[in-house]
Amino acid sequence: MKTERLYYTDSYLREFEAQIVGIAQAGAGFRVYLDRTAFYPESGGQPADRGRLGEVPLLNVENEGEAVAHLLGARPADGVVRGVIDWKRRFDHMQQHTGQHILSAAFEKRGDYKTVSFHMGDESSTIDLDSDRVSRPQVQAAEESANEVVFEDRPVKICFKSEEETSAMKLRKPSERKGEVRLVEIADFDLSACGGTHVSRTGAVGLILVRKMDHTKGMTRVEFVCGGRALRKARNDYLTLADAALELSAPLVNVPALARKRGEELRESLRIREKLLGQLAEYRARELFDSAPVKNGLRIVRKAFAAGEIPEIKHLINALAGFPAMVALVGVRGRPAGLYFAQSRGGGCDMAALLKRVTERFGGKGGGTRDSAQGGGLEESRIEDALILAESLLAGDAE
Ligand SMILES: [Zn+2]
Repeated sequence: MKTERLYYTDSYLREFEAQIVGIAQAGAGFRVYLDRTAFYPESGGQPADRGRLGEVPLLNVENEGEAVAHLLGARPADGVVRGVIDWKRRFDHMQQHTGQHILSAAFEKRGDYKTVSFHMGDESSTIDLDSDRVSRPQVQAAEESANEVVFEDRPVKICFKSEEETSAMKLRKPSERKGEVRLVEIADFDLSACGGTHVSRTGAVGLILVRKMDHTKGMTRVEFVCGGRALRKARNDYLTLADAALELSAPLVNVPALARKRGEELRESLRIREKLLGQLAEYRARELFDSAPVKNGLRIVRKAFAAGEIPEIKHLINALAGFPAMVALVGVRGRPAGLYFAQSRGGGCDMAALLKRVTERFGGKGGGTRDSAQGGGLEESRIEDALILAESLLAGDAE
Protein backbone atom coordinates (compact mmCIF):
# COMPACT_ATOMS: atom_id res chain seq x y z
CA MET A 1 0.00 0.00 0.00
CA LYS A 2 1.39 3.38 -1.03
CA THR A 3 0.07 6.69 0.30
CA GLU A 4 0.42 9.75 -1.89
CA ARG A 5 2.17 12.36 0.25
CA LEU A 6 0.62 15.73 -0.50
CA TYR A 7 3.04 17.56 1.79
CA TYR A 8 5.89 16.53 -0.52
CA THR A 9 4.80 19.12 -3.08
CA ASP A 10 2.75 21.49 -0.91
CA SER A 11 3.82 22.09 2.68
CA TYR A 12 1.17 24.81 2.99
CA LEU A 13 -1.79 22.49 2.42
CA ARG A 14 -3.81 22.66 5.65
CA GLU A 15 -6.95 20.74 4.64
CA PHE A 16 -7.55 17.93 2.18
CA GLU A 17 -9.96 15.20 1.26
CA ALA A 18 -8.98 11.58 0.85
CA GLN A 19 -10.44 8.15 0.43
CA ILE A 20 -10.08 5.72 3.33
CA VAL A 21 -8.42 2.61 1.86
CA GLY A 22 -7.84 0.61 5.03
CA ILE A 23 -8.61 0.54 8.74
CA ALA A 24 -6.86 -1.79 11.16
CA GLN A 25 -7.67 -2.20 14.84
CA ALA A 26 -4.59 -1.45 16.97
CA GLY A 27 -5.01 -1.93 20.71
CA ALA A 28 -7.78 0.39 21.85
CA GLY A 29 -7.45 2.52 18.69
CA PHE A 30 -7.24 2.30 14.91
CA ARG A 31 -4.61 2.65 12.21
CA VAL A 32 -6.26 4.39 9.29
CA TYR A 33 -4.84 4.37 5.74
CA LEU A 34 -5.76 6.93 3.07
CA ASP A 35 -5.09 7.08 -0.67
CA ARG A 36 -3.40 10.45 -0.04
CA THR A 37 -2.45 12.53 2.98
CA ALA A 38 -1.14 15.96 3.95
CA PHE A 39 -0.27 14.72 7.47
CA TYR A 40 3.46 14.46 8.11
CA PRO A 41 4.63 11.24 9.80
CA GLU A 42 7.54 11.49 12.24
CA SER A 43 10.76 11.25 10.26
CA GLY A 44 14.18 12.83 9.77
CA GLY A 45 14.15 14.63 13.12
CA GLN A 46 10.77 16.30 12.51
CA PRO A 47 7.87 15.22 14.76
CA ALA A 48 4.55 14.02 13.33
CA ASP A 49 1.63 16.34 12.66
CA ARG A 50 -1.53 16.61 14.72
CA GLY A 51 -5.02 17.58 13.64
CA ARG A 52 -8.33 15.90 12.84
CA LEU A 53 -9.46 13.22 10.43
CA GLY A 54 -13.18 13.78 10.06
CA GLU A 55 -14.20 14.61 13.59
CA VAL A 56 -11.61 12.36 15.21
CA PRO A 57 -8.42 13.90 16.64
CA LEU A 58 -5.18 12.45 15.35
CA LEU A 59 -3.06 10.74 18.04
CA ASN A 60 -0.03 10.17 15.82
CA VAL A 61 1.11 9.70 12.23
CA GLU A 62 3.64 6.97 11.41
CA ASN A 63 5.59 5.75 8.41
CA GLU A 64 4.99 2.16 7.39
CA GLY A 65 7.32 1.85 4.44
CA GLU A 66 5.48 3.43 1.50
CA ALA A 67 2.28 3.83 3.52
CA VAL A 68 1.35 6.43 6.13
CA ALA A 69 -0.63 5.20 9.15
CA HIS A 70 -2.94 7.66 10.94
CA LEU A 71 -3.48 6.66 14.57
CA LEU A 72 -6.93 7.45 15.90
CA GLY A 73 -8.74 6.71 19.16
CA ALA A 74 -12.09 6.16 17.38
CA ARG A 75 -13.07 4.61 14.05
CA PRO A 76 -13.87 7.22 11.38
CA ALA A 77 -16.79 6.76 8.96
CA ASP A 78 -15.91 4.85 5.75
CA GLY A 79 -15.51 6.57 2.43
CA VAL A 80 -14.16 10.05 1.79
CA VAL A 81 -12.79 11.84 4.82
CA ARG A 82 -11.58 15.39 5.42
CA GLY A 83 -8.23 15.95 7.07
CA VAL A 84 -7.45 19.21 8.91
CA ILE A 85 -3.90 19.87 10.03
CA ASP A 86 -3.02 21.57 13.33
CA TRP A 87 -1.46 24.41 11.38
CA LYS A 88 0.15 26.27 14.29
CA ARG A 89 2.14 23.18 15.20
CA ARG A 90 2.99 22.33 11.59
CA PHE A 91 4.14 25.85 10.67
CA ASP A 92 6.33 25.90 13.79
CA HIS A 93 7.91 22.63 12.60
CA MET A 94 8.46 24.14 9.13
CA GLN A 95 10.25 27.15 10.64
CA GLN A 96 12.48 24.90 12.77
CA HIS A 97 13.25 22.47 9.94
CA THR A 98 14.14 25.08 7.30
CA GLY A 99 16.11 26.95 9.98
CA GLN A 100 18.04 23.76 10.64
CA HIS A 101 18.96 23.32 6.96
CA ILE A 102 20.23 26.92 6.83
CA LEU A 103 22.19 26.64 10.10
CA SER A 104 23.72 23.27 9.14
CA ALA A 105 24.76 24.69 5.75
CA ALA A 106 26.27 27.75 7.48
CA PHE A 107 28.40 25.50 9.73
CA GLU A 108 29.55 23.55 6.70
CA LYS A 109 30.42 26.68 4.73
CA ARG A 110 32.15 28.53 7.57
CA GLY A 111 34.03 25.72 9.27
CA ASP A 112 33.50 22.59 7.20
CA TYR A 113 31.57 21.10 10.12
CA LYS A 114 29.09 18.44 9.06
CA THR A 115 25.75 17.91 10.77
CA VAL A 116 25.53 14.28 11.84
CA SER A 117 22.12 14.43 13.51
CA PHE A 118 19.12 16.68 14.01
CA HIS A 119 16.47 16.52 16.70
CA MET A 120 13.43 18.77 16.97
CA GLY A 121 12.09 18.90 20.53
CA ASP A 122 8.99 20.57 21.99
CA GLU A 123 10.98 23.57 23.21
CA SER A 124 14.12 23.71 21.14
CA SER A 125 16.05 21.78 18.51
CA THR A 126 19.60 20.46 18.38
CA ILE A 127 22.11 19.58 15.71
CA ASP A 128 25.24 17.55 16.38
CA LEU A 129 28.35 18.68 14.48
CA ASP A 130 31.11 16.19 13.68
CA SER A 131 33.81 17.89 15.81
CA ASP A 132 34.25 18.79 19.47
CA ARG A 133 36.49 21.72 18.48
CA VAL A 134 33.77 24.14 17.44
CA SER A 135 34.38 27.40 19.30
CA ARG A 136 31.91 29.99 20.54
CA PRO A 137 33.03 32.61 17.96
CA GLN A 138 32.57 29.99 15.21
CA VAL A 139 29.05 29.29 16.43
CA GLN A 140 28.30 33.02 16.43
CA ALA A 141 29.72 33.42 12.92
CA ALA A 142 27.54 30.56 11.64
CA GLU A 143 24.50 32.07 13.40
CA GLU A 144 25.24 35.42 11.72
CA SER A 145 25.55 34.04 8.21
CA ALA A 146 22.49 31.78 8.69
CA ASN A 147 20.43 34.83 9.64
CA GLU A 148 21.73 36.77 6.64
CA VAL A 149 20.24 34.03 4.47
CA VAL A 150 16.96 34.41 6.39
CA PHE A 151 16.93 38.20 5.92
CA GLU A 152 17.65 37.85 2.19
CA ASP A 153 14.35 35.94 1.89
CA ARG A 154 15.70 33.41 -0.58
CA PRO A 155 13.33 30.94 -2.26
CA VAL A 156 13.18 27.39 -0.87
CA LYS A 157 12.45 24.98 -3.71
CA ILE A 158 11.45 21.34 -3.76
CA CYS A 159 12.31 19.06 -6.67
CA PHE A 160 12.52 15.36 -7.40
CA LYS A 161 15.46 13.65 -9.09
CA SER A 162 16.37 10.10 -9.88
CA GLU A 163 18.94 8.29 -7.76
CA GLU A 164 21.43 8.42 -10.69
CA GLU A 165 20.99 12.17 -11.16
CA THR A 166 21.53 12.94 -7.48
CA SER A 167 24.65 10.77 -7.25
CA ALA A 168 26.35 13.28 -9.56
CA MET A 169 25.11 16.28 -7.54
CA LYS A 170 26.88 17.90 -4.63
CA LEU A 171 24.41 17.42 -1.81
CA ARG A 172 25.11 18.63 1.75
CA LYS A 173 23.04 15.72 2.98
CA PRO A 174 22.94 12.82 0.51
CA SER A 175 19.90 10.57 0.26
CA GLU A 176 19.70 7.17 1.89
CA ARG A 177 16.63 6.32 -0.18
CA LYS A 178 16.37 4.21 -3.28
CA GLY A 179 14.58 5.44 -6.37
CA GLU A 180 13.27 8.97 -6.63
CA VAL A 181 14.94 11.48 -4.32
CA ARG A 182 13.26 14.60 -2.92
CA LEU A 183 15.60 17.59 -2.82
CA VAL A 184 15.22 20.78 -0.79
CA GLU A 185 17.13 23.71 -2.25
CA ILE A 186 17.80 27.03 -0.58
CA ALA A 187 18.78 29.25 -3.48
CA ASP A 188 22.59 29.51 -3.87
CA PHE A 189 23.14 28.23 -0.34
CA ASP A 190 22.06 24.66 0.32
CA LEU A 191 20.95 21.50 -1.47
CA SER A 192 19.89 18.50 0.63
CA ALA A 193 17.90 15.34 0.27
CA CYS A 194 15.01 15.66 2.73
CA GLY A 195 11.42 14.50 3.09
CA GLY A 196 10.43 17.20 5.61
CA THR A 197 8.06 20.13 5.39
CA HIS A 198 9.63 23.52 4.68
CA VAL A 199 8.66 27.17 4.37
CA SER A 200 8.63 28.51 0.79
CA ARG A 201 11.06 31.40 1.42
CA THR A 202 13.79 31.73 4.02
CA GLY A 203 12.24 34.97 5.37
CA ALA A 204 9.44 32.88 6.91
CA VAL A 205 11.99 31.31 9.27
CA GLY A 206 11.95 34.70 11.02
CA LEU A 207 15.09 34.33 13.08
CA ILE A 208 17.60 31.62 13.96
CA LEU A 209 18.76 31.94 17.54
CA VAL A 210 21.45 29.70 19.03
CA ARG A 211 20.75 29.06 22.72
CA LYS A 212 23.48 26.74 23.89
CA MET A 213 26.49 24.70 22.83
CA ASP A 214 27.99 21.61 24.47
CA HIS A 215 31.01 19.55 23.60
CA THR A 216 30.40 15.82 23.90
CA LYS A 217 32.50 12.85 22.82
CA GLY A 218 33.85 13.97 19.45
CA MET A 219 30.89 16.23 18.73
CA THR A 220 29.48 19.67 19.38
CA ARG A 221 25.77 19.88 20.16
CA VAL A 222 24.21 23.20 19.14
CA GLU A 223 20.78 24.04 20.54
CA PHE A 224 18.71 26.55 18.60
CA VAL A 225 15.22 27.97 18.10
CA CYS A 226 13.64 29.60 15.05
CA GLY A 227 10.71 31.87 14.25
CA GLY A 228 7.94 31.98 16.86
CA ARG A 229 10.06 29.99 19.30
CA ALA A 230 12.89 32.52 18.99
CA LEU A 231 10.42 35.32 19.77
CA ARG A 232 9.05 33.52 22.85
CA LYS A 233 12.50 32.58 24.15
CA ALA A 234 13.84 36.10 23.67
CA ARG A 235 10.78 37.55 25.39
CA ASN A 236 11.15 35.13 28.34
CA ASP A 237 14.84 35.93 28.61
CA TYR A 238 14.00 39.62 28.70
CA LEU A 239 11.32 39.17 31.39
CA THR A 240 13.65 37.04 33.51
CA LEU A 241 16.44 39.58 33.24
CA ALA A 242 14.03 42.47 33.91
CA ASP A 243 12.87 40.66 37.05
CA ALA A 244 16.46 40.30 38.26
CA ALA A 245 17.14 43.96 37.39
CA LEU A 246 14.12 45.04 39.45
CA GLU A 247 15.39 42.97 42.41
CA LEU A 248 18.78 44.64 42.13
CA SER A 249 17.37 48.13 41.28
CA ALA A 250 19.76 48.26 38.35
CA PRO A 251 19.60 48.68 34.57
CA LEU A 252 19.47 45.32 32.72
CA VAL A 253 22.99 45.65 31.42
CA ASN A 254 24.42 45.94 34.96
CA VAL A 255 22.75 42.79 36.28
CA PRO A 256 25.64 40.31 35.84
CA ALA A 257 28.26 42.66 37.35
CA LEU A 258 25.95 43.61 40.21
CA ALA A 259 25.01 39.98 40.93
CA ARG A 260 28.72 39.16 41.05
CA LYS A 261 29.36 42.11 43.40
CA ARG A 262 26.46 41.12 45.67
CA GLY A 263 27.82 37.56 45.79
CA GLU A 264 31.23 38.86 46.88
CA GLU A 265 29.63 41.12 49.50
CA LEU A 266 27.60 38.23 50.85
CA ARG A 267 30.65 35.97 51.12
CA GLU A 268 32.53 38.75 52.95
CA SER A 269 29.58 39.33 55.32
CA LEU A 270 29.35 35.63 56.10
CA ARG A 271 33.09 35.55 56.80
CA ILE A 272 32.73 38.48 59.25
CA ARG A 273 29.62 36.92 60.80
CA GLU A 274 31.49 33.68 61.43
CA LYS A 275 34.29 35.62 63.07
CA LEU A 276 31.89 37.60 65.29
CA LEU A 277 29.94 34.49 66.23
CA GLY A 278 33.24 32.93 67.30
CA GLN A 279 34.07 35.94 69.47
CA LEU A 280 30.56 36.07 70.94
CA ALA A 281 30.77 32.35 71.71
CA GLU A 282 34.00 32.90 73.61
CA TYR A 283 32.40 35.58 75.80
CA ARG A 284 29.34 33.41 76.46
CA ALA A 285 31.50 30.38 77.17
CA ARG A 286 33.57 32.36 79.69
CA GLU A 287 30.39 33.59 81.41
CA LEU A 288 28.88 30.10 81.58
CA PHE A 289 32.11 28.53 82.76
CA ASP A 290 32.66 31.13 85.51
CA SER A 291 29.13 30.79 86.89
CA ALA A 292 28.99 26.98 86.77
CA PRO A 293 29.18 25.02 90.03
CA VAL A 294 32.06 22.62 90.66
CA LYS A 295 31.28 19.03 91.58
CA ASN A 296 34.02 16.49 92.33
CA GLY A 297 36.56 18.82 90.75
CA LEU A 298 34.50 19.07 87.56
CA ARG A 299 32.81 22.27 86.48
CA ILE A 300 29.40 21.36 85.06
CA VAL A 301 27.79 23.86 82.69
CA ARG A 302 24.10 23.02 82.37
CA LYS A 303 22.05 25.36 80.23
CA ALA A 304 18.91 25.27 78.09
CA PHE A 305 18.56 27.97 75.46
CA ALA A 306 15.36 29.14 73.80
CA ALA A 307 14.84 28.45 70.11
CA GLY A 308 16.82 30.93 68.00
CA GLU A 309 18.52 32.42 71.08
CA ILE A 310 21.93 31.16 70.19
CA PRO A 311 22.98 31.17 66.53
CA GLU A 312 26.58 30.36 67.54
CA ILE A 313 25.82 27.07 69.33
CA LYS A 314 28.59 25.07 67.59
CA HIS A 315 31.11 27.83 68.33
CA LEU A 316 29.94 27.91 71.96
CA ILE A 317 30.41 24.17 72.45
CA ASN A 318 33.82 24.45 70.85
CA ALA A 319 34.81 27.37 73.10
CA LEU A 320 33.59 25.58 76.23
CA ALA A 321 35.63 22.49 75.36
CA GLY A 322 38.72 24.73 75.47
CA PHE A 323 38.35 25.19 79.27
CA PRO A 324 39.94 22.68 81.63
CA ALA A 325 38.05 20.17 83.84
CA MET A 326 34.62 21.01 82.44
CA VAL A 327 31.53 19.25 81.12
CA ALA A 328 28.94 21.20 79.13
CA LEU A 329 25.35 19.93 78.92
CA VAL A 330 23.56 22.30 76.59
CA GLY A 331 20.06 22.06 75.18
CA VAL A 332 18.40 24.18 72.53
CA ARG A 333 14.62 24.30 72.39
CA GLY A 334 12.84 24.37 69.08
CA ARG A 335 11.33 21.91 66.68
CA PRO A 336 13.19 19.69 66.76
CA ALA A 337 15.10 20.38 69.97
CA GLY A 338 18.84 19.68 70.18
CA LEU A 339 21.26 18.39 72.79
CA TYR A 340 24.97 19.22 72.81
CA PHE A 341 27.26 17.45 75.29
CA ALA A 342 30.99 18.19 75.45
CA GLN A 343 33.88 17.91 77.84
CA SER A 344 37.36 19.41 78.09
CA ARG A 345 39.41 17.70 75.40
CA GLY A 346 40.64 14.33 76.66
CA GLY A 347 38.43 14.45 79.80
CA GLY A 348 37.48 11.35 81.81
CA CYS A 349 33.77 11.04 80.89
CA ASP A 350 32.08 9.63 77.79
CA MET A 351 29.74 12.11 76.09
CA ALA A 352 28.48 9.68 73.40
CA ALA A 353 27.53 7.12 76.10
CA LEU A 354 25.88 9.83 78.20
CA LEU A 355 23.83 11.09 75.24
CA LYS A 356 22.76 7.56 74.43
CA ARG A 357 21.38 7.04 77.94
CA VAL A 358 19.54 10.36 77.89
CA THR A 359 17.93 9.83 74.48
CA GLU A 360 16.93 6.28 75.46
CA ARG A 361 14.94 7.85 78.24
CA PHE A 362 13.61 11.04 76.61
CA GLY A 363 13.47 10.15 72.92
CA GLY A 364 15.41 11.48 69.97
CA LYS A 365 18.71 10.17 68.74
CA GLY A 366 22.27 11.22 68.14
CA GLY A 367 25.89 10.26 68.53
CA GLY A 368 29.44 11.46 68.73
CA THR A 369 32.75 10.76 70.43
CA ARG A 370 33.95 10.58 74.03
CA ASP A 371 34.63 14.34 74.00
CA SER A 372 31.64 15.60 72.08
CA ALA A 373 28.18 14.33 71.17
CA GLN A 374 25.14 15.81 69.58
CA GLY A 375 21.53 14.67 69.49
CA GLY A 376 18.12 15.84 68.47
CA GLY A 377 14.56 14.87 67.73
CA LEU A 378 13.20 14.92 71.27
CA GLU A 379 10.27 17.06 72.42
CA GLU A 380 11.37 20.55 73.40
CA SER A 381 9.35 20.34 76.65
CA ARG A 382 11.68 17.50 77.79
CA ILE A 383 14.94 19.37 77.24
CA GLU A 384 15.26 20.61 80.85
CA ASP A 385 14.55 17.14 82.32
CA ALA A 386 16.98 15.57 79.86
CA LEU A 387 19.75 17.91 81.01
CA ILE A 388 18.97 17.24 84.71
CA LEU A 389 19.17 13.50 84.04
CA ALA A 390 22.46 13.95 82.20
CA GLU A 391 23.91 15.87 85.15
CA SER A 392 22.78 13.28 87.69
CA LEU A 393 24.21 10.45 85.56
CA LEU A 394 27.46 12.38 85.39
CA ALA A 395 27.54 12.69 89.16
CA GLY A 396 26.89 8.94 89.37
CA ASP A 397 29.74 8.28 86.92
CA ALA A 398 32.09 10.46 88.92
CA GLU A 399 31.31 8.65 92.17
ZN1 LIG B 1 15.63 18.11 6.40
